[in-house]
Amino acid sequence: MNIKHIKSNHFNFVKRTGASLLSLILPATCIECEDILHHTQSLGLCNSCWKSLPWWDKSIQIEPELPVYVDSFNAPLLYEEEIQKLVTMFKFYDTPEYADTFARIMQHYLPTIENPLIIPVPIHRLRLWNRGFNQADLLADKIAKYTANSFTRTALLRIKHTPKQTGSNKQKRRKILKTAFWVDTNKVKNKNIILIDDVWTTGSTAHVCAKTLKKAGASSVHVVTLCYTPI
Ligand SMILES: [Zn+2]
Repeated sequence: MNIKHIKSNHFNFVKRTGASLLSLILPATCIECEDILHHTQSLGLCNSCWKSLPWWDKSIQIEPELPVYVDSFNAPLLYEEEIQKLVTMFKFYDTPEYADTFARIMQHYLPTIENPLIIPVPIHRLRLWNRGFNQADLLADKIAKYTANSFTRTALLRIKHTPKQTGSNKQKRRKILKTAFWVDTNKVKNKNIILIDDVWTTGSTAHVCAKTLKKAGASSVHVVTLCYTPI
């Protein structure tokens, strides 16, 4: 533990506590444009920003070819300019209110399956320590609460710290990720899993996670992300 991290975590705690106290006295604002929200507006976005989100119209932008171990994939939004800024804020800054907005949207995009177990795509503990949170975990936890489904963050762990994969092709990504995950067989055997992440890019992470879960006996693995990046 170094001073930078202690300071960072302390600052985050103070910021979070301060933010929650402020939220009691200040009106709610849109997470995109910061306009004050009226009581008829929900989900943390004003009507104008809500309408301008890049909703995924599957009649225009077709679904990706699914990796063999993935039973289904769904996402509300395309990963386009209007949402990229919000996702970056969510991923790299301490903005838990974004998780709430995103999870409330994503809960309507889950597959209809019996007794699903909701699992976040894990990040390595070094990245977790560095960032202070796993954005997929925040989403999965809230989605599970809103839909009254089971949730676990300990069934699938990332045990290998892999380099940032920007620019890597699908095959290379899969090779790098091949031994990156560990699974608790007892927790996933015969379960219908819904794997949660923020963005689907090449599908490589989904592929490797789904393969790991299926080899451990999962009955099905469905993937839901906030955004889909058409390639
Ligand atoms: Zn707005």
